[in-house]
Amino acid sequence: MQTAQRLKKIPPYLFMELRKKINKARSEGVDVISLAIGDPVEATPSSIIDELCASARDPQNHRYPTDEEKGMLSFRREVAAWYSKRYGVDLNPESEILGLIGSKEGCHHFVLARVNPGDIVLMTDPGYPAYRSSILMGEGIPYNVPILPDNNYLPVLEDIPADVAQKASAMFLNYPNNPTGACATLDFLNKLVAFAREYDIAVCYDNPYGEVVFAGQERISFLQAPGAKDVGVELNSLSKPFNMCGWRIGMACGNHDLIAGISKVKENTDSGIFNAVQFAGIQALRHEAGFIEEMLSIYGKRRELVLETLRKIGIDFNAPRGTFYLWVPVPAGMTSLEFTNRLFDKTAVVVASGTAYGQYGEGFVRISLTVPDDRLEEAMQRIEKEFRQ
Ligand SMILES: *Cc1c(COP(=O)(O)O)cnc(C)c1O
Repeated sequence: MQTAQRLKKIPPYLFMELRKKINKARSEGVDVISLAIGDPVEATPSSIIDELCASARDPQNHRYPTDEEKGMLSFRREVAAWYSKRYGVDLNPESEILGLIGSKEGCHHFVLARVNPGDIVLMTDPGYPAYRSSILMGEGIPYNVPILPDNNYLPVLEDIPADVAQKASAMFLNYPNNPTGACATLDFLNKLVAFAREYDIAVCYDNPYGEVVFAGQERISFLQAPGAKDVGVELNSLSKPFNMCGWRIGMACGNHDLIAGISKVKENTDSGIFNAVQFAGIQALRHEAGFIEEMLSIYGKRRELVLETLRKIGIDFNAPRGTFYLWVPVPAGMTSLEFTNRLFDKTAVVVASGTAYGQYGEGFVRISLTVPDDRLEEAMQRIEKEFRQ
Protein backbone atom coordinates (compact mmCIF):
# COMPACT_ATOMS: atom_id res chain seq x y z
CA MET A 1 0.00 0.00 0.00
CA GLN A 2 1.37 3.40 -0.96
CA THR A 3 1.13 6.08 1.69
CA ALA A 4 0.89 9.80 0.93
CA GLN A 5 3.79 11.72 -0.59
CA ARG A 6 3.86 14.12 2.31
CA LEU A 7 5.07 11.39 4.62
CA LYS A 8 8.12 10.77 2.45
CA LYS A 9 9.34 14.30 3.10
CA ILE A 10 9.46 13.73 6.83
CA PRO A 11 12.86 12.64 8.10
CA PRO A 12 12.86 9.52 10.28
CA TYR A 13 12.08 10.24 13.91
CA LEU A 14 15.42 10.73 15.50
CA PHE A 15 14.92 8.38 18.41
CA MET A 16 13.77 5.42 16.32
CA GLU A 17 17.27 4.45 15.15
CA LEU A 18 18.57 5.03 18.63
CA ARG A 19 15.87 2.87 20.17
CA LYS A 20 16.79 0.00 17.84
CA LYS A 21 20.45 0.26 18.83
CA ILE A 22 19.58 0.40 22.53
CA ASN A 23 17.23 -2.57 22.32
CA LYS A 24 19.83 -4.64 20.49
CA ALA A 25 22.52 -3.90 23.07
CA ARG A 26 20.11 -4.58 25.95
CA SER A 27 19.11 -7.91 24.43
CA GLU A 28 22.81 -8.79 24.48
CA GLY A 29 22.92 -8.05 28.18
CA VAL A 30 24.57 -4.60 28.03
CA ASP A 31 23.53 -2.23 30.84
CA VAL A 32 22.62 0.75 28.68
CA ILE A 33 21.95 4.15 30.30
CA SER A 34 20.07 6.54 28.07
CA LEU A 35 20.53 10.27 28.59
CA ALA A 36 18.97 10.96 25.22
CA ILE A 37 15.32 11.59 25.90
CA GLY A 38 13.64 14.40 27.82
CA ASP A 39 10.81 12.80 29.74
CA PRO A 40 10.72 13.22 33.54
CA VAL A 41 11.01 9.92 35.45
CA GLU A 42 9.60 11.10 38.78
CA ALA A 43 5.86 10.67 39.32
CA THR A 44 3.20 13.30 38.75
CA PRO A 45 2.26 14.89 42.13
CA SER A 46 -0.32 12.72 43.89
CA SER A 47 -2.88 15.53 44.31
CA ILE A 48 -3.09 15.72 40.51
CA ILE A 49 -3.54 11.96 40.23
CA ASP A 50 -6.23 12.08 42.93
CA GLU A 51 -8.09 14.77 41.03
CA LEU A 52 -7.95 12.69 37.85
CA CYS A 53 -9.31 9.62 39.67
CA ALA A 54 -12.16 11.55 41.28
CA SER A 55 -13.06 13.32 38.03
CA ALA A 56 -12.85 10.10 36.05
CA ARG A 57 -15.56 8.59 38.31
CA ASP A 58 -18.01 11.39 37.46
CA PRO A 59 -20.17 10.29 34.52
CA GLN A 60 -20.53 13.96 33.51
CA ASN A 61 -16.92 13.74 32.41
CA HIS A 62 -17.45 10.66 30.26
CA ARG A 63 -19.11 12.73 27.58
CA TYR A 64 -17.39 14.84 24.96
CA PRO A 65 -15.27 17.52 26.64
CA THR A 66 -17.25 20.58 27.65
CA ASP A 67 -16.91 23.54 25.32
CA GLU A 68 -15.49 21.01 22.88
CA GLU A 69 -12.38 22.15 21.07
CA LYS A 70 -11.50 25.15 23.20
CA GLY A 71 -11.17 23.25 26.44
CA MET A 72 -13.30 23.77 29.55
CA LEU A 73 -13.76 27.40 30.40
CA SER A 74 -12.67 26.66 33.97
CA PHE A 75 -9.37 25.25 32.69
CA ARG A 76 -8.85 28.28 30.44
CA ARG A 77 -9.62 30.59 33.38
CA GLU A 78 -6.98 28.78 35.42
CA VAL A 79 -4.48 29.27 32.61
CA ALA A 80 -5.34 32.98 32.56
CA ALA A 81 -4.75 33.16 36.32
CA TRP A 82 -1.40 31.38 35.88
CA TYR A 83 -0.24 33.78 33.15
CA SER A 84 -1.30 36.74 35.22
CA LYS A 85 0.47 35.49 38.34
CA ARG A 86 3.61 34.17 36.65
CA TYR A 87 4.18 36.78 33.97
CA GLY A 88 1.82 39.68 34.61
CA VAL A 89 0.19 38.88 31.26
CA ASP A 90 -3.57 39.47 30.86
CA LEU A 91 -5.42 36.97 28.70
CA ASN A 92 -9.10 36.67 27.89
CA PRO A 93 -10.00 33.04 28.63
CA GLU A 94 -12.85 33.16 26.10
CA SER A 95 -10.88 34.26 23.06
CA GLU A 96 -7.16 34.17 23.80
CA ILE A 97 -6.69 30.73 25.36
CA LEU A 98 -7.20 27.27 23.95
CA GLY A 99 -6.66 23.92 25.65
CA LEU A 100 -4.32 21.60 23.75
CA ILE A 101 -3.56 17.90 23.82
CA GLY A 102 0.05 18.92 24.43
CA SER A 103 2.19 21.57 22.84
CA LYS A 104 3.31 19.23 20.05
CA GLU A 105 -0.23 18.99 18.78
CA GLY A 106 -0.44 22.79 18.94
CA CYS A 107 2.59 23.10 16.62
CA HIS A 108 0.91 20.94 14.04
CA HIS A 109 -2.44 22.66 14.23
CA PHE A 110 -0.81 26.10 14.19
CA VAL A 111 0.65 25.27 10.77
CA LEU A 112 -2.69 24.05 9.46
CA ALA A 113 -4.36 27.20 10.76
CA ARG A 114 -1.87 29.70 9.36
CA VAL A 115 0.36 28.35 6.59
CA ASN A 116 -0.65 28.06 2.94
CA PRO A 117 1.02 25.45 0.70
CA GLY A 118 4.36 26.82 -0.50
CA ASP A 119 4.75 29.41 2.27
CA ILE A 120 8.14 29.64 3.90
CA VAL A 121 8.13 28.88 7.62
CA LEU A 122 11.16 29.96 9.64
CA MET A 123 12.51 27.64 12.31
CA THR A 124 15.71 27.57 14.29
CA ASP A 125 18.64 25.25 13.58
CA PRO A 126 19.34 23.48 15.86
CA GLY A 127 15.64 23.06 16.57
CA TYR A 128 12.96 20.77 17.91
CA PRO A 129 12.41 18.20 15.11
CA ALA A 130 8.59 18.25 15.37
CA TYR A 131 8.52 21.79 13.89
CA ARG A 132 9.98 20.57 10.61
CA SER A 133 7.56 17.64 10.45
CA SER A 134 4.58 19.89 11.15
CA ILE A 135 5.69 22.41 8.51
CA LEU A 136 6.16 19.64 5.94
CA MET A 137 2.83 17.99 6.73
CA GLY A 138 1.20 21.38 6.27
CA GLU A 139 3.00 21.74 2.91
CA GLY A 140 5.05 24.72 4.01
CA ILE A 141 8.74 25.09 3.24
CA PRO A 142 10.99 25.02 6.31
CA TYR A 143 13.77 27.63 6.33
CA ASN A 144 16.53 27.16 8.89
CA VAL A 145 17.65 30.14 10.91
CA PRO A 146 20.93 29.31 12.66
CA ILE A 147 21.21 29.79 16.40
CA LEU A 148 24.82 29.82 17.53
CA PRO A 149 26.77 30.14 20.77
CA ASP A 150 28.17 33.54 19.65
CA ASN A 151 24.72 35.09 19.98
CA ASN A 152 23.67 33.05 23.03
CA TYR A 153 21.72 30.76 20.72
CA LEU A 154 19.25 33.48 19.76
CA PRO A 155 18.50 33.99 16.06
CA VAL A 156 20.01 37.09 14.47
CA LEU A 157 16.85 38.39 12.84
CA GLU A 158 18.72 40.99 10.75
CA ASP A 159 20.60 38.16 9.06
CA ILE A 160 17.44 36.60 7.64
CA PRO A 161 17.39 37.68 3.97
CA ALA A 162 14.55 40.16 3.32
CA ASP A 163 13.18 38.16 0.39
CA VAL A 164 12.93 35.08 2.61
CA ALA A 165 11.24 37.04 5.39
CA GLN A 166 8.79 38.48 2.87
CA LYS A 167 7.78 35.01 1.70
CA ALA A 168 7.54 33.65 5.24
CA SER A 169 4.14 33.41 6.88
CA ALA A 170 5.20 31.92 10.20
CA MET A 171 8.11 31.27 12.53
CA PHE A 172 8.77 28.67 15.23
CA LEU A 173 10.89 29.46 18.24
CA ASN A 174 11.33 27.89 21.62
CA TYR A 175 13.00 29.40 24.70
CA PRO A 176 14.11 28.14 27.19
CA ASN A 177 15.45 26.29 24.21
CA ASN A 178 15.41 22.60 23.44
CA PRO A 179 18.12 21.52 22.60
CA THR A 180 20.57 24.29 23.64
CA GLY A 181 19.14 25.30 27.03
CA ALA A 182 19.42 28.98 26.07
CA CYS A 183 16.93 31.51 27.42
CA ALA A 184 15.45 34.49 25.62
CA THR A 185 15.70 38.09 26.79
CA LEU A 186 12.91 40.65 26.76
CA ASP A 187 15.06 42.76 24.49
CA PHE A 188 15.15 39.93 21.95
CA LEU A 189 11.39 39.36 22.26
CA ASN A 190 10.75 43.03 21.53
CA LYS A 191 12.87 42.72 18.38
CA LEU A 192 10.99 39.57 17.45
CA VAL A 193 7.64 41.36 17.69
CA ALA A 194 8.93 44.21 15.49
CA PHE A 195 10.33 41.72 12.94
CA ALA A 196 7.08 39.73 12.85
CA ARG A 197 5.08 42.92 12.43
CA GLU A 198 7.29 44.22 9.62
CA TYR A 199 6.97 41.01 7.57
CA ASP A 200 3.53 39.84 8.70
CA ILE A 201 4.95 36.67 10.18
CA ALA A 202 2.86 34.73 12.71
CA VAL A 203 5.06 33.69 15.61
CA CYS A 204 4.59 30.30 17.22
CA TYR A 205 6.53 30.65 20.45
CA ASP A 206 6.79 27.25 22.07
CA ASN A 207 7.39 27.62 25.80
CA PRO A 208 7.08 24.18 27.48
CA TYR A 209 10.27 24.82 29.50
CA GLY A 210 9.15 28.21 30.78
CA GLU A 211 9.40 26.89 34.33
CA VAL A 212 12.62 24.96 33.95
CA VAL A 213 15.27 27.59 34.69
CA PHE A 214 18.33 27.70 36.96
CA ALA A 215 20.78 29.98 38.69
CA GLY A 216 18.59 33.04 39.00
CA GLN A 217 17.40 32.98 35.41
CA GLU A 218 14.00 34.69 35.31
CA ARG A 219 10.92 33.09 33.80
CA ILE A 220 9.95 34.78 30.56
CA SER A 221 6.90 34.55 28.34
CA PHE A 222 6.77 35.80 24.76
CA LEU A 223 3.46 37.47 25.68
CA GLN A 224 5.30 39.84 28.01
CA ALA A 225 6.64 41.69 24.99
CA PRO A 226 4.29 44.57 24.14
CA GLY A 227 2.40 43.76 20.95
CA ALA A 228 3.16 40.02 21.10
CA LYS A 229 -0.55 39.23 21.01
CA ASP A 230 -0.82 41.05 17.68
CA VAL A 231 1.71 38.79 16.01
CA GLY A 232 1.59 35.36 17.56
CA VAL A 233 0.71 32.69 20.04
CA GLU A 234 2.62 31.04 22.84
CA LEU A 235 2.25 27.30 23.27
CA ASN A 236 2.68 25.94 26.73
CA SER A 237 2.36 22.57 28.36
CA LEU A 238 1.91 20.81 31.68
CA SER A 239 4.15 17.96 30.48
CA LYS A 240 7.52 19.22 31.60
CA PRO A 241 6.82 21.32 34.76
CA PHE A 242 4.42 18.82 36.38
CA ASN A 243 5.88 15.52 35.06
CA MET A 244 2.75 15.02 32.97
CA CYS A 245 4.16 14.07 29.55
CA GLY A 246 1.83 11.10 29.25
CA TRP A 247 -1.30 13.03 30.22
CA ARG A 248 -1.39 15.18 27.09
CA ILE A 249 -2.47 18.59 28.23
CA GLY A 250 -1.24 22.03 27.23
CA MET A 251 -2.46 25.38 25.99
CA ALA A 252 -2.14 27.98 23.26
CA CYS A 253 -2.38 31.62 24.32
CA GLY A 254 -2.31 34.90 22.46
CA ASN A 255 -3.58 36.24 19.16
CA HIS A 256 -7.32 35.72 18.95
CA ASP A 257 -7.39 35.11 15.18
CA LEU A 258 -4.77 32.39 15.48
CA ILE A 259 -6.57 30.92 18.50
CA ALA A 260 -9.82 30.89 16.52
CA GLY A 261 -8.02 29.30 13.56
CA ILE A 262 -6.37 26.57 15.63
CA SER A 263 -9.69 26.04 17.37
CA LYS A 264 -11.40 25.51 14.03
CA VAL A 265 -8.80 22.91 13.02
CA LYS A 266 -9.26 21.11 16.32
CA GLU A 267 -13.05 21.25 16.09
CA ASN A 268 -12.70 19.20 12.92
CA THR A 269 -9.96 16.87 14.17
CA ASP A 270 -10.13 16.00 17.85
CA SER A 271 -12.81 16.97 20.30
CA GLY A 272 -10.57 18.34 22.97
CA ILE A 273 -9.00 17.08 26.19
CA PHE A 274 -10.74 14.55 28.45
CA ASN A 275 -12.52 16.68 31.06
CA ALA A 276 -11.01 14.66 33.91
CA VAL A 277 -7.53 15.51 32.62
CA GLN A 278 -8.53 19.18 32.45
CA PHE A 279 -9.67 19.06 36.09
CA ALA A 280 -6.31 17.51 36.93
CA GLY A 281 -4.69 20.34 34.97
CA ILE A 282 -6.56 22.90 37.07
CA GLN A 283 -5.28 21.18 40.20
CA ALA A 284 -1.72 21.35 38.85
CA LEU A 285 -1.83 25.03 37.97
CA ARG A 286 -3.68 26.07 41.12
CA HIS A 287 -1.89 24.04 43.79
CA GLU A 288 1.32 22.48 42.57
CA ALA A 289 3.68 25.37 41.78
CA GLY A 290 5.77 24.19 44.74
CA PHE A 291 6.36 20.85 43.04
CA ILE A 292 8.21 22.68 40.28
CA GLU A 293 10.68 24.03 42.82
CA GLU A 294 11.31 20.48 44.10
CA MET A 295 11.99 19.26 40.58
CA LEU A 296 14.27 22.22 39.88
CA SER A 297 16.32 21.36 42.92
CA ILE A 298 16.66 17.75 41.68
CA TYR A 299 17.61 18.85 38.16
CA GLY A 300 19.94 21.49 39.57
CA LYS A 301 21.96 18.85 41.44
CA ARG A 302 22.09 16.59 38.38
CA ARG A 303 23.18 19.54 36.28
CA GLU A 304 26.07 20.27 38.63
CA LEU A 305 27.11 16.62 38.65
CA VAL A 306 27.24 16.46 34.85
CA LEU A 307 29.04 19.80 34.52
CA GLU A 308 31.59 18.73 37.13
CA THR A 309 32.22 15.42 35.36
CA LEU A 310 32.60 17.19 32.04
CA ARG A 311 35.12 19.61 33.53
CA LYS A 312 37.13 16.65 34.80
CA ILE A 313 37.41 15.29 31.28
CA GLY A 314 38.39 18.66 29.84
CA ILE A 315 35.01 19.91 28.62
CA ASP A 316 34.50 23.29 30.24
CA PHE A 317 31.84 25.65 28.94
CA ASN A 318 29.37 28.25 30.01
CA ALA A 319 26.14 26.28 30.29
CA PRO A 320 22.96 28.19 29.43
CA ARG A 321 20.44 28.32 32.28
CA GLY A 322 17.26 26.76 30.92
CA THR A 323 15.65 23.34 30.34
CA PHE A 324 16.62 19.94 31.73
CA TYR A 325 19.14 19.44 28.94
CA LEU A 326 22.80 20.26 28.66
CA TRP A 327 24.09 21.17 25.22
CA VAL A 328 27.64 20.02 25.42
CA PRO A 329 30.53 20.79 23.04
CA VAL A 330 32.27 17.58 21.98
CA PRO A 331 36.02 17.10 22.51
CA ALA A 332 38.21 18.81 19.90
CA GLY A 333 38.83 16.75 16.79
CA MET A 334 35.64 14.73 17.04
CA THR A 335 32.29 15.06 15.30
CA SER A 336 29.06 14.82 17.25
CA LEU A 337 28.39 11.39 15.87
CA GLU A 338 31.90 10.12 16.59
CA PHE A 339 31.61 11.25 20.20
CA THR A 340 28.11 9.79 20.54
CA ASN A 341 29.27 6.47 19.11
CA ARG A 342 32.39 6.34 21.25
CA LEU A 343 30.30 6.99 24.36
CA PHE A 344 27.92 4.25 23.40
CA ASP A 345 30.55 1.70 22.41
CA LYS A 346 32.85 2.29 25.40
CA THR A 347 30.44 3.22 28.20
CA ALA A 348 26.97 2.15 27.02
CA VAL A 349 25.78 5.68 27.74
CA VAL A 350 23.47 7.11 25.11
CA VAL A 351 23.34 10.84 24.36
CA ALA A 352 21.67 12.61 21.46
CA SER A 353 23.96 13.79 18.67
CA GLY A 354 23.58 17.52 18.06
CA THR A 355 23.18 16.86 14.36
CA ALA A 356 19.80 15.26 15.06
CA TYR A 357 18.56 18.84 15.62
CA GLY A 358 20.00 20.33 12.44
CA GLN A 359 23.31 21.00 10.72
CA TYR A 360 24.28 23.70 13.23
CA GLY A 361 24.06 21.09 15.94
CA GLU A 362 27.40 19.70 14.68
CA GLY A 363 30.01 19.86 17.41
CA PHE A 364 27.51 19.29 20.22
CA VAL A 365 25.61 16.54 21.99
CA ARG A 366 22.50 16.90 24.13
CA ILE A 367 22.44 15.30 27.57
CA SER A 368 19.09 14.99 29.32
CA LEU A 369 18.79 15.19 33.11
CA THR A 370 15.55 13.22 33.26
CA VAL A 371 17.08 10.00 34.60
CA PRO A 372 17.13 8.65 38.14
CA ASP A 373 20.02 10.00 40.23
CA ASP A 374 21.75 6.63 40.67
CA ARG A 375 21.71 5.99 36.91
CA LEU A 376 23.10 9.44 36.19
CA GLU A 377 25.84 8.92 38.78
CA GLU A 378 26.72 5.58 37.22
CA ALA A 379 26.79 7.15 33.74
CA MET A 380 29.07 9.95 34.92
CA GLN A 381 31.46 7.48 36.57
CA ARG A 382 31.73 5.52 33.35
CA ILE A 383 32.32 8.67 31.29
CA GLU A 384 34.96 9.95 33.69
CA LYS A 385 36.80 6.65 33.60
CA GLU A 386 36.74 6.44 29.80
CA PHE A 387 37.70 10.04 29.03
CA ARG A 388 39.92 11.04 31.95
CA GLN A 389 43.05 12.67 30.57
C1 LIG B 1 8.66 18.28 25.04
C2 LIG B 1 8.45 19.36 24.01
C3 LIG B 1 7.20 19.61 23.49
C4 LIG B 1 6.05 18.65 23.68
O1 LIG B 1 5.28 18.97 24.70
P1 LIG B 1 3.87 18.22 24.88
O2 LIG B 1 3.08 19.27 25.55
O3 LIG B 1 4.13 17.02 25.70
O4 LIG B 1 3.34 17.90 23.52
C5 LIG B 1 7.02 20.67 22.64
N1 LIG B 1 8.05 21.46 22.30
C6 LIG B 1 9.28 21.24 22.76
C7 LIG B 1 10.38 22.13 22.35
C8 LIG B 1 9.53 20.17 23.63
O5 LIG B 1 10.78 19.90 24.02
